Amino acid sequence: MNCAKNAPPPAKLTLNLELQSRNTFGLEVVAERAYEITDSDQVPALMHEITQNQWKWHVLGSGSNVILPPVLSGATLLMNIAGQKLTQTEPDNAYLEVGAGVNWHELVKWTLDNDLPGLENLALIPGTVGAAPIQNIGAYGVEIGQYIDHVRAYDTNTNQFVSITNAECEFAYRDSIFKKNPNRFVVTQVIFKLPKVWQARVHYADLAAIASSNSTANPTPQVIFETVCTVRSKKLPDPKVIGNAGSFFQNPLVSANQYEALLAKFPKLVSYPDVGNQRKLAAGWLIDQCGLKGQRLGEVGVYEQQALVIVNHGKGTAADILDLAKIIQDKVQQQFGVTLEIEPNIL
Ligand SMILES: Cc1cc2nc3c(=O)[nH]c(=O)nc-3n(C[C@H](O)[C@H](O)[C@H](O)COP(=O)(O)OP(=O)(O)OC[C@H]3O[C@@H](n4cnc5c(N)ncnc54)[C@H](O)[C@@H]3O)c2cc1C
Repeated sequence: MNCAKNAPPPAKLTLNLELQSRNTFGLEVVAERAYEITDSDQVPALMHEITQNQWKWHVLGSGSNVILPPVLSGATLLMNIAGQKLTQTEPDNAYLEVGAGVNWHELVKWTLDNDLPGLENLALIPGTVGAAPIQNIGAYGVEIGQYIDHVRAYDTNTNQFVSITNAECEFAYRDSIFKKNPNRFVVTQVIFKLPKVWQARVHYADLAAIASSNSTANPTPQVIFETVCTVRSKKLPDPKVIGNAGSFFQNPLVSANQYEALLAKFPKLVSYPDVGNQRKLAAGWLIDQCGLKGQRLGEVGVYEQQALVIVNHGKGTAADILDLAKIIQDKVQQQFGVTLEIEPNIL
């Protein structure tokens, strides 16, 4: 019997595809050549065509962490690779292989439904599984790098599929080898390693209440999942209602000395626990203290309920967003001497 996998049909091409509904800022964007990738094996031939034609190229998941120009020239790879399966169980760990196009939050739900807890603190983060390792998504004291065994990707430097181990991914706060090399890898699958011994992580202030509440003295993964969903729905604007990309700036890491100096000057300074000897400041608090919450610049503005979020009130463009970002960065630098880095990827 021949078990060889048949070659998939080439990636479907759409010319001048409207992407307004495929980026959470709701920016009006046209992709000159949009290719729908539903199978890893479509990638080599497409990359060959891209190289032959010397087209620029970009990868797009669900567009929840990007600032897109009005025209995305060249080729845009729309990552729609489906599929999730439990590939291996060991006494201590379970391994899951998941396609890059799978919706992140749906995966978190699926793991809980299948008694594979661990990812619950990362519930409701928008986006695809393939994008999760790019900035090492994180929330409520957990980063996805802790649960990734390896990443399968097409390496456009060597024109080969590669398996990139956790250590090789160079995961750090909102950072990875993929983020450092934006036009090198196309992530096709992520292989997760979920420890069978589960521990609740409820040390972040928003979740600490459930740990101390009598009714949930021993919170289950499901309770944490639901709490995270409730807290996030209250705090963050729904991109379906108002365009945004979640946190617009990374929380800046400062040295212990700089932290102490700032704390002496601003006793209400908000910060988060961090590993190592650096301290993570709350970028939203810094922006709020500059009086910028709710400020508008034409069609874009700082969200009224959370200063860390920039919103598109309607017809904003990438240029408007970046103009507002510069004003915010300058004010925070002036007032606190702290540099804010933009979190979404500017394509
Ligand atoms: C309301 C809201 C809340 C958010 N909250 C959080 C949060 O709590 N924590 C957090 O970390 N992030 C958060 N984000 C950001 C975002 O959800 C994540 O960064 C997510 O992983 C992006 O997924 P995506 O599929 O939309 O990626 P996209 O926005 O489409 O792409 C992001 C980047 O990854 C690249 N990329 C995407 N897929 C691939 C692939 N398969 N191979 C190679 N490169 C790829 C793109 O080229 C781009 O540079 C939030 C965003 C929103 C809108």
